[in-house]
Amino acid sequence: MSGRHIHIIGAGMAGLSAALQLALSGEKVVIYEAAPFAGGRCRSHYDRDLDCRIDNGNHLVLSGNTAVHDYLYLTNALGTVGGPGKAIFPFFDLVTGERWTVKPNSGVIPWWLFDKKKRIPGTNLRDYLSLAKILRVADNDTLKGFVKQKSPFYSRFLEPLIIGALNTEPEIASASLFRSVLAQTFGGGARACIPLIPKIGLSETFVTPCLTVLHQHGVEINFYHRLRSMMWEGDCVRQLAFNSETIEIDPQDWVILALPAWFMREVLPEVPAPNDFRSIFNAHFRVDCPPLEHGFVGLIGGYSEWLFLRNGVASVTVSCAERFRDFTQREMGALIWEEVAAVLNLDVKRVPPYRLFLEKYATIAATPQQDARRPSSYTGWKNVALAAEWTATGLPSTIEGALRSGMKAAQVVMRWK
Ligand SMILES: Cc1cc2nc3c(=O)[nH]c(=O)nc-3n(C[C@H](O)[C@H](O)[C@H](O)COP(=O)(O)OP(=O)(O)OC[C@H]3O[C@@H](n4cnc5c(N)ncnc54)[C@H](O)[C@@H]3O)c2cc1C
Repeated sequence: MSGRHIHIIGAGMAGLSAALQLALSGEKVVIYEAAPFAGGRCRSHYDRDLDCRIDNGNHLVLSGNTAVHDYLYLTNALGTVGGPGKAIFPFFDLVTGERWTVKPNSGVIPWWLFDKKKRIPGTNLRDYLSLAKILRVADNDTLKGFVKQKSPFYSRFLEPLIIGALNTEPEIASASLFRSVLAQTFGGGARACIPLIPKIGLSETFVTPCLTVLHQHGVEINFYHRLRSMMWEGDCVRQLAFNSETIEIDPQDWVILALPAWFMREVLPEVPAPNDFRSIFNAHFRVDCPPLEHGFVGLIGGYSEWLFLRNGVASVTVSCAERFRDFTQREMGALIWEEVAAVLNLDVKRVPPYRLFLEKYATIAATPQQDARRPSSYTGWKNVALAAEWTATGLPSTIEGALRSGMKAAQVVMRWK
């Protein structure tokens, strides 16, 4: 074990991923987190009114997310995820009442598109082939050319996929980021498209198992430590000033900043960082009804996008929630309940206990302009690296991107041993 310490600021997915890689490589790691818990934007808590654990928001990850798989493997958490166990995406049209499933086949050639019965109702082969244009897009292209409001292919497939994956309005969303998502999921066939859903909650899958491994490797975690500023000597950080204490940094030590983009301008304004964000709204309803066949369903034609039903809680995601800024949260809750009741065949008049969450800075806006502001994990400073979903991962703001950024930051640190 080397004598140096690696100080990681922020215990979200990116910070935990960096800590895990470094701790497993024998480095001495210390984590500082402003909140009293780890997980950042990917966490669960006990809700007293609903009397159960809920997530801050539904997170959908797929088997093609290789960093997620490796992270779960290294933290012994593969057994904490469930889901349908196969590549299947059920949908319900809130306007027409139609139901269908999208089932990519195995292998990289999408044979399912050639079978009318397997395609989304109202779509034809040409619609899907038109997506091939995505292979030729440039870094500054948006998805505007793919927006065809009146086509069922757009409203039933492309629009929900773009908004769900990029959390950004399709007209301004980055085409190359969307291409990366397609390559990692549908591009890999059924094997890469199996939905992975935490059996209990996000924390039980993505946070607690990792903290256990970190603890076993002697990693120190300091909660209630909000970084205020850093003191520099040349291109080397020598002090970290937290709300509660100041830590001296040895010249051989490293600092990994695993912080949200909006905080960067306070501690490191020299680093370009995204400055446009999108929110996600989540509603959790305590319901009493039979389970959904696949645990979740995509919703078309309403406000809700994805509904997950788990352990008596129906949780609904509304991405890019600024579209609904004229509604109060209570109005949104009522509108969403109507949709939940329709899908689950529940009495719409009997509104169950519910909890609403608005994550205002859920993700960066996945536009070409914001993508161009994403820096690499390597900063050029002597002992500072970056880890966060908003760094240049080539992916939108996702758990996969955050975990990869943590791995990259760890590689930077290990290269300079
Ligand atoms: C509602 C919602 C739904 C989402 N859905 C999906 C999904 O379906 N699939 C998917 O892959 N991704 C999804 N995401 C995105 C995913 O959660 C994030 O990309 C990922 O969790 C970001 O991790 P991070 O470590 O980069 O950042 P963060 O989680 O923001 O971690 C940063 C950490 O730094 C701490 N911190 C902040 N300031 C300070 C300070 N000054 N000093 C010390 N610590 C500080 C914070 O408390 C936090 O713990 C969703 C996000 C939200 C909010």
